[in-house]
Amino acid sequence: MNVKRAAKYGFCAGVRIADRKVKKFAREGHRGAILGQVVHNERVVEEMRQLGVDTVDALAETREETIVFSAHGVPPSFHARAREQGLRVLDTTCPFVYDIHDEAAAALAAGAHLVFIGDPRHREVIGYTHDLDPADYHVLLRVEEAREIDWSRYEKVRIFYQTTLNAGEFEELVRYIESQVPATRRADTICYATKENQDAALALGRDPEVDLILVIGGRASANTRHLWEICRQHKPSHLIQGVADLDPSWFAGVTTVGLTAGASTPDYVVDEVERALRALAPEAAGESGERMAR
Ligand code: SF4
Repeated sequence: MNVKRAAKYGFCAGVRIADRKVKKFAREGHRGAILGQVVHNERVVEEMRQLGVDTVDALAETREETIVFSAHGVPPSFHARAREQGLRVLDTTCPFVYDIHDEAAAALAAGAHLVFIGDPRHREVIGYTHDLDPADYHVLLRVEEAREIDWSRYEKVRIFYQTTLNAGEFEELVRYIESQVPATRRADTICYATKENQDAALALGRDPEVDLILVIGGRASANTRHLWEICRQHKPSHLIQGVADLDPSWFAGVTTVGLTAGASTPDYVVDEVERALRALAPEAAGESGERMAR
């Protein structure tokens, strides 16, 4: 079995730094709690738990002295709330996410109505919107939602994308808003790391040598699912969390497997999958047997 990795995959710089900060904190003997998953990857969450940094869903649930804010960022008010609770903060918010907070605040101060293209339940988007007056913004994903809004109320609009989205998929929505409010400006908020992983996944999909692609990442990870969507348009593709999800029946007649991974997938998980694929005996690839043991 040949394995070809995408030219760019896995942890982005923001998540890599967040991961290092939390591990250093744990190595120094501290314990803490992470507000929400540090990244959307179950293996990383479990690894952190074993290091003494468990995940909580709300500040009020924290029993530790330190709360960790993840790379996705939090609403600015959460810093004040943590202080009121007497908590120390280990802030691993990605600087790029902070830039978007700052740009949105500046646009609002300049009188723009804010539009966030993204998932309203995603923590990054909640970070941008939680503290705002609902009259000052919309979170949109579909052009149908935009058509229900009376845009004549807004003189100017500033559009922000959730960093991990594929901007091309929202062109119709953005053009509709621009047609309604001529003074609409788009902020360039798609993260380069996401774009690079997406471009490399597309190249893998178009690579004539690659028969099948495995996309490795957490099922709740938005950017991993986007990579999967790109790959499956070109090649048979499976989204897996790790070796345990591999099914030998997928590899019948397959000579070369392409590998890519979401921005929340640690390198060691990609290494494990590659080792398992290389060890896959040719006859096993023809069987539709049980899933490979981890
Ligand atoms: S995907 Fe980009 S914006 Fe998000 S944490 Fe990584 S580097 Fe930062």
